[in-house]
Amino acid sequence: MKIPAKGLNPEEIFQQLELIRSHDLETHGGRTWAYVYDHGRREVEEVAKKAYLMFLSENGLDPTAFPSLLHLENELIAVAAAHLGGNSETVGNFTSGGTESIILAVKAARDHYRAIKPQQRRPEMILPVTAHAAFHKAAHYLDVTPVMVAVDPDTFKADLEAVRAAVTPDTIMVVGSAVSYAHGVLDPIESLGRLALEHDLWLHVDACVGGWLLPYFRRLGHPVDAFDLSVPGVSSISMDYHKYAYCPKGASVVLYRNKALRKYQMFACARWTGYTVINTAVQSSKSGGPMAAAWAELHCLGDEGYLEIARRTLEATQSVIAGIEAIPELRILGRPEFCLVAFTSDEINVFQLIDEMRECGWYLQPQLAFESSPPNVHLSITAASLERVEAMLADLRQCVARVKAAGPLAEAEMLIQAVKQVDFSQVDENALSQMLAMAGISPGGLPDRMALVNEVLNALPPQAREQILITYFNDLFTPKAAGS
Ligand SMILES: *Cc1c(COP(=O)(O)O)cnc(C)c1O
Repeated sequence: MKIPAKGLNPEEIFQQLELIRSHDLETHGGRTWAYVYDHGRREVEEVAKKAYLMFLSENGLDPTAFPSLLHLENELIAVAAAHLGGNSETVGNFTSGGTESIILAVKAARDHYRAIKPQQRRPEMILPVTAHAAFHKAAHYLDVTPVMVAVDPDTFKADLEAVRAAVTPDTIMVVGSAVSYAHGVLDPIESLGRLALEHDLWLHVDACVGGWLLPYFRRLGHPVDAFDLSVPGVSSISMDYHKYAYCPKGASVVLYRNKALRKYQMFACARWTGYTVINTAVQSSKSGGPMAAAWAELHCLGDEGYLEIARRTLEATQSVIAGIEAIPELRILGRPEFCLVAFTSDEINVFQLIDEMRECGWYLQPQLAFESSPPNVHLSITAASLERVEAMLADLRQCVARVKAAGPLAEAEMLIQAVKQVDFSQVDENALSQMLAMAGISPGGLPDRMALVNEVLNALPPQAREQILITYFNDLFTPKAAGS
């Protein structure tokens, strides 16, 4: 395809765009239990959208040229610092998302130890297996070695002794989640902090998903252990405004105990012929939209607004947990401490259950087996879920019965046996595409029912899963040839 010779009128443009997104999941209304966060307050969202558009064209590349963005950023950091146990030394920056915040914290830690411990040649970062994939991405980009350690198999919390046993002279960093995405549990941040101080390690607390609402849950009487910058030994913490602060996407922050640590996050370049570059984050040119929208969202809802949203979110979560516990075929993993719930089944295939629920108009997220965590279903519960809980649970009960009656997928066993014979260190791209086709996915095509694909992926080791998915995406992101 090429751009049209003559421009289309706005009406046609919006018609086409609506058509293009007609197969998407619903972003509002509480039927989508992952990826999107809906507080159900349309009038507040309109304010945030207006603020987004108002700052769409400002460029965060140079805060001296657009001091408004410096102002907004410092205020968003001040709010986050006050919310997360910071003090007058706390500093931080706004980023595009949790992944960028985490990459920056890992870079800062790496360069801090390069400066103070130059004898460390191969820096290592200790990751409980529940740590977010973003840390592996950071390790991959920054050449830091991820050292994975088991978590407690019942609670899915980081196991302090396992972390301690993994410390070597090359360790620079330890990670704790507040909370973990997969199971919604809080790692023992205080003991990780003591360990970090004892061994002079950088402790990063990943509060991307939990950081905003946890303090509100605590105020509502829900038990929440200390997890933030008030805990001795914590060097940095990440929190996404675009998760449970319900801000438009592209909004996260990373905070540091002080400037001496944050310094290593910065990047400057005066070695080319163009404008001198000094960046706080990974992005260089960036829209002011996400920052203005986050600022507007916070100021529109205010503390009272968020407390009410937290109350609704907590109520929805407690109903969901009670409802799932009442279904004998289902079993909740760990003891969720946040509005994230993972459940599995010892009797039915949870991936088939997800497909059945999709037919009923609900999106629930599959999580493949990894280490002590069995294949399971993840729910991110939002304030907008509250009105949907009973309907969702009613469908869940029916779908469990339907999957139980249908029995396992006929093709699955044979396909898994076939795929398990494959030597993934030898296969080429064609063979991988063929495997996907057998599971019902044509090259570049989007799957309809996912259970078979998930079952096959679930049966494979992580490295084979990654290989298959890279092949799939390499095909998927292929434009129609020019001229066609
Ligand atoms: C979502 C999430 C991230 C990554 O954030 P993105 O905004 O998707 O880049 C990191 N850690 C946790 C715990 C998360 O839930």
